[in-house]
Amino acid sequence: MSGINLAIVGIGKIVRDQHLPAVAGNGDYRLVAAASRHGKVEGIDNFASIEEMLSAVPSIQAVSLCMPPQYRYPAAVKALAAGKHVFLEKPPGATLSEVADLAALADANGLSLFASWHSRYAPAVEAARQFLAGTRIRSMRVTWKEDVRQWHPNQEWIWQAGGLGVFDPGINALSIVTRILPRPVFATAATLEFPENRDAPIAASIDFTDASGLDLRAEFDWRQTGRQSWDIVARTDAGEMVLSEGGARLSVDGKLVHEQPEQEYPLLYRRFAEIIKAGQSDVDLTPLRHVADAFMLGRRKIVEAFHD
Ligand code: NAP
Repeated sequence: MSGINLAIVGIGKIVRDQHLPAVAGNGDYRLVAAASRHGKVEGIDNFASIEEMLSAVPSIQAVSLCMPPQYRYPAAVKALAAGKHVFLEKPPGATLSEVADLAALADANGLSLFASWHSRYAPAVEAARQFLAGTRIRSMRVTWKEDVRQWHPNQEWIWQAGGLGVFDPGINALSIVTRILPRPVFATAATLEFPENRDAPIAASIDFTDASGLDLRAEFDWRQTGRQSWDIVARTDAGEMVLSEGGARLSVDGKLVHEQPEQEYPLLYRRFAEIIKAGQSDVDLTPLRHVADAFMLGRRKIVEAFHD
């Protein structure tokens, strides 16, 4: 590939932490412009809005949309209508229907749409998938418990409707679970805990099963102080599998099986270049569908107000 002229929109934490280094390290891309109301990227042209950017820099071929999910759809429509391939940060949108609409638009315009799930590219996820494919799973427990004050300080959008609350990290766990399990699962019950002053949950649990009667429970909590947990534990006929540290480390019966340096965003950008080259889209909505099901099925508990 001769190089993709890329632009990034919504310059905030994840762009600075991950997108900029990943793009800089990948020779398939030339970062040519950025659009953000306040944020800027040094050394390239910056614009206050995606509209301005698209009309001023027609050479842009692809756009990464990294603003919060509630504000992504209109920007994605503008980019697709202007003939650009689109990379969507996770979660790909605020609703299932709007992302389905984007997928249809990309398809109709012969463009690639990438609904990225960075946690699926964590180092030990593929090894976990292979391990589970070769055994019978008796039960699985997902524990995603972190301190929201540490990881999302003063991020108002995350507490607003469509911001997903604790499912913002929880959907990362669901993106891994839906990759490593051999069969589709579905929710049978859920509980969502909403702070009395917020529109999105601070904690949630979901029970799932599958066609074989799998016993799967996921617990998400943002009130965790001290040790943070991003663990998936499966009891299987071949021993107890622990996929820990958000998919970075795999052990079976206490013995380390797989651990490698983290490379999630470099791999996401490699995948985006691959689908552009192949003329395909990659839009798996399963993790978002499970979150939507939890909102549909969930028992709602109102809990103590949360203040940053
Ligand atoms: P963020 O820093 O709070 O937001 C990113 C940028 O989006 C902001 O700097 C802001 O830039 C723009 N923005 C905010 N509100 C907006 C609005 N109402 N309309 C248009 N633009 C708006 O968030 P983030 O942590 O980077 O997360 C962004 C996305 O990446 C989320 O979907 C998140 O789930 C995902 N993600 C985050 C992390 C992480 O560790 N933070 C990890 C993986 C994925 P301007 O004010 O300059 O427009």
